[in-house]
Amino acid sequence: MNTPGALILRSLRGQLALWFGGLSLLTLLCVGLYVGRLATQQMATSAGESLHAVALTAANLLGANLRERELEIVLLSKAPHFTRGNLANPELLQSLEKRKELREEFAWMGVMDPQGKVVQAVDGILQGQSVAQRPWFIAARSGIYAGDVHEAVLLAKLLPPLPGGEPLRFIDFAAPMHNAAGDLIGVVGAHIHWRWVTQTVQTAFDQSARGADAEILIANAVGAVLYPPALAGQVQLPRNLPAGPDKPYSQLRWDDGRDYLASAATVDSRTPHSLGWRIVVRQPLEQALEPAHALRDRLLALGLLAALVFGLVAVRLARAFSRPIEQLAEAARRIEHGDSQPAFPATGQLAEVEQLSQSMRSMTQALLAHEHELEAMNQSLETQVQQRTAALAAANRELEQLATRDALTGVHNRRRFDDRLAECFEVGQRTAQGFAVLLLDADHFKKVNDTYGHPTGDAVLQQMARLLTEHTRSVDFVARYGGEEFVVLLPHTPDGDGALAVAEKIRAAIAEAAFPGPGRMTVSIGASTWQPADRGVSAVVERADAALYQAKAGGRNRAMLAPQG
Ligand code: GH3
Ligand code: MG
Ligand code: MG
Repeated sequence: MNTPGALILRSLRGQLALWFGGLSLLTLLCVGLYVGRLATQQMATSAGESLHAVALTAANLLGANLRERELEIVLLSKAPHFTRGNLANPELLQSLEKRKELREEFAWMGVMDPQGKVVQAVDGILQGQSVAQRPWFIAARSGIYAGDVHEAVLLAKLLPPLPGGEPLRFIDFAAPMHNAAGDLIGVVGAHIHWRWVTQTVQTAFDQSARGADAEILIANAVGAVLYPPALAGQVQLPRNLPAGPDKPYSQLRWDDGRDYLASAATVDSRTPHSLGWRIVVRQPLEQALEPAHALRDRLLALGLLAALVFGLVAVRLARAFSRPIEQLAEAARRIEHGDSQPAFPATGQLAEVEQLSQSMRSMTQALLAHEHELEAMNQSLETQVQQRTAALAAANRELEQLATRDALTGVHNRRRFDDRLAECFEVGQRTAQGFAVLLLDADHFKKVNDTYGHPTGDAVLQQMARLLTEHTRSVDFVARYGGEEFVVLLPHTPDGDGALAVAEKIRAAIAEAAFPGPGRMTVSIGASTWQPADRGVSAVVERADAALYQAKAGGRNRAMLAPQG
């Protein structure tokens, strides 16, 4: 999760920009949606109320017109020349013709005798025929009748066809005629063109200047749509379509699966024979609410734009806020990598950042001072260690000196001689390289001590050691064997004569030297060489000791070679 994108999102700048932009987007989206919803509701209310006004106007107009036509027939049925009893009276026909002339919606008018025979009719249509089986006639014998729309049955062939081939459809009005005694003397009936009804409604609708997507419907008492023709017989009104002033409109899904904003008004002809029709004005919901949705979309777009602008401003602000902090972080990183003078952010920015910057600066200085102190301490520690190491080496050297040298004379001691002898013996065993041993003993040394004192004896011993060292090679090995006895080991000296020559040289050198105190001193020397047959280390020394004994016995101040082989 350390890709550059993730790092930017985790940075202060990224976080600030994200929060600013996100919050402003959220706020503006909420406002946009809320205002959009409010506008939609208001739009639905005002559009619904407007639809209702149209429906109401059309319903009232149609109601008044129907009432007028119905009253016309009722008035005719009560006119004196209609109630006198002579149905064949030409005045009756004149009255009917006059009305049909004035009102072209009347398709047919006629008077029938109580048995249903048409006695007189406008234009003589159906005259003499029987309408006894027609529902309107049957109903009108007992009272005023106003009938629902129906297709022309008897008149279909007798009346001129409508333009466009539209089928002839009528609504019927009929009223009984009674004489003075109250007996039924006939029925007056009229068919009114359905087209007149629809035109009335359509005219009222057209005057309302609703949008092209709205439409007006006429439905009968059971909710079946009668008009427009495209929907007639196809569509049923939704059951819960309200028609009252308390809830003048609805948003409902219709049979065709679409949502409509719709309003209904009942056609009230204010007579006892109301048909129960309803006028419905409907408009597809999305069209009705289109302006509100457009407003909401505009608000949302505006919200997005504002969020973008806020986001950009937030990025700039975030950059301004975060730059000194990033500089601080960079300074801290440089300090971590050993830079003692990193660039700290300029002062005069955020108070907290300035405070932090100052604290970091003084902290860095304190740390650097501390580091210098540590370095100095380290150096002094190193010097101390070096001194101690040198002292230790010197002590070790001294210790080695003590362990391998004789304290009085400074030549090797007996222990070191034993080691060297073992080494030479081993080399001899391995490579058959011979060596020789000279054993020396000061003659009458006891007398020196007794005569000149012990310190003079010591000085004599020291001088003897010096003379031994001076008169031997660097490869030769001089050691104090004990008391006033010395031993010289001669490597690479296999033959006895060679060894004896060295012994003689030493003896002569000592005999000729001047010793403070006794003046002259002599030594007796026993010499021997390593023999391949030697079984132990000490054999060669034992032979030298024996030769020394011989030298003492022979009068001292001489060198004797131990027998070879
Ligand atoms: P010889 O010729 O038979 O060897 O006679 P000598 O006197 O040397 O005989 P001896 O070996 O009996 O005497 C050795 C003396 O050396 C005895 C002792 O007091 C002395 N001596 C041994 N070691 C030291 C020493 O370190 N310093 C001094 N001053 N004297 C020592
Ligand atoms: Mg001795
Ligand atoms: Mg002696």
